[in-house]
Amino acid sequence: MSQSLFHSRPMRIAVIGAGPAGFYTAEELLKGPVEARVDLFDRLFAPYGLVRYGVAPDHPKTKLVTSRFDRVAGDERVRFLGGIEIGQDIRVEQLRTAYDAIVVTTGAETSRMLNIPGEDLPHCHHAIDFVSWYNGHPEYTDRRFDLSGDTAVIIGNGNVAIDLARILAKPTDTLAPTDIARHALDALGKSQVQNIIVLGRRGPAQASFTRAELMELQDLAWIDPAELDLNEESRVELDKDTQGQKIFTLFEGFPSIPPQGRNITFRWLRSPVEIIENGVRVALNTLHGDAGDQKVLGTEQREEIPCGLVLKSIGYFGQALPGLPFDENLGIIPNHEGRVEGHPGVYVAGWIKRGPSGLIGHNKRCAVDTVSAIWKDLEDLVHAETTKQRPLDLSGAISWADWQGIAEREAAQGFKVTRYP
Ligand code: NAP
Repeated sequence: MSQSLFHSRPMRIAVIGAGPAGFYTAEELLKGPVEARVDLFDRLFAPYGLVRYGVAPDHPKTKLVTSRFDRVAGDERVRFLGGIEIGQDIRVEQLRTAYDAIVVTTGAETSRMLNIPGEDLPHCHHAIDFVSWYNGHPEYTDRRFDLSGDTAVIIGNGNVAIDLARILAKPTDTLAPTDIARHALDALGKSQVQNIIVLGRRGPAQASFTRAELMELQDLAWIDPAELDLNEESRVELDKDTQGQKIFTLFEGFPSIPPQGRNITFRWLRSPVEIIENGVRVALNTLHGDAGDQKVLGTEQREEIPCGLVLKSIGYFGQALPGLPFDENLGIIPNHEGRVEGHPGVYVAGWIKRGPSGLIGHNKRCAVDTVSAIWKDLEDLVHAETTKQRPLDLSGAISWADWQGIAEREAAQGFKVTRYP
């Protein structure tokens, strides 16, 4: 058999996960050297993955990318199949009998653990739980977060930590016009949290925040100037890092006392060592090593920060897909340039391929790279073709037309549908 098979019938490709990486992959597949039919599976009834359930509700511009995704799904060569969980409802092995190639784009749906005592206490949560809750993810609508204390601690110095801090601090009347889940808006409206403390294990020169995100905290954040003392190596790092300098300048511009009302502050060189009842115990750290390669060194000094809520924002983590290998350390499906190791015809793109970093648009490049690997493998894929005609029972799937009906309902009512049917 040769590539010419795809001149007599289109190539069939299953994309697992209708988030950004899934849509970018489908879009790219439509531009290939052979005619493609793409089935885009998602276990949820709604498409868009991280754009719908990860991007903060007060960032509507970031969500505009869905109109591009809608154009992809509206193409007659693409079929959205919502409400089908690959690995549960259909096994990967079954999919392989029906498709010429499979691309896994399931993202990173869990979180890293701190692996410290007390992590399972009821006031300690993963960032992704809180994010999914306020974004109306159907599996998180029943979560409860105790917002009755006056202080919340957020662990981690990435943009997700900033999202959490901002959502906790913003007046709810500014969130009301967004697509934030109603249950979250109600709970945040009653929140007693006044002080939000963002903890970094390294220093302000090593924070992973981006400038635009920090700028949004202008009226909410303050910093004790003592927190901005830098060691010599960090000064050298900043001298070589224009972005880092801009961020540091923003920190320096924040007031040194809390603004009225809900406020956000930063404390650095602190690692949580135990989640305790009504708080978190941290070790004070120093940095050691050369500029650009400084590591955290814990000291014996401890500090207790009383709080009613701890949110761990230390990075997302991928989930294994039954039937495929999984790297337990990195939280990714092991792959070589998008080709899943030991599974010819199976590919990955997005965070499950390269780990949970980068903005939504970075998944475009990642998807393009994976799809170009598919085109390079075309001959082998065709040779692997034997029994790929067996139909799967997809009768229970939620179609694109179904989704459009849900989207219309959401537009009319002004907030997200969290349960379907
Ligand atoms: P991230 O940027 O990788 O930040 C993770 C943070 O967790 C780092 O500060 C890291 O510190 C810290 N950390 C890791 N393990 C820790 C531990 N054991 N104890 C204490 N701290 C620990 O991840 P993220 O915030 O989840 O964001 C993921 C990606 O999405 C990023 O690329 C981000 O820019 C993007 N994002 C963008 C936006 C936006 O543009 N608005 C919003 C949300 C997310 P070290 O640096 O010391 O390792």
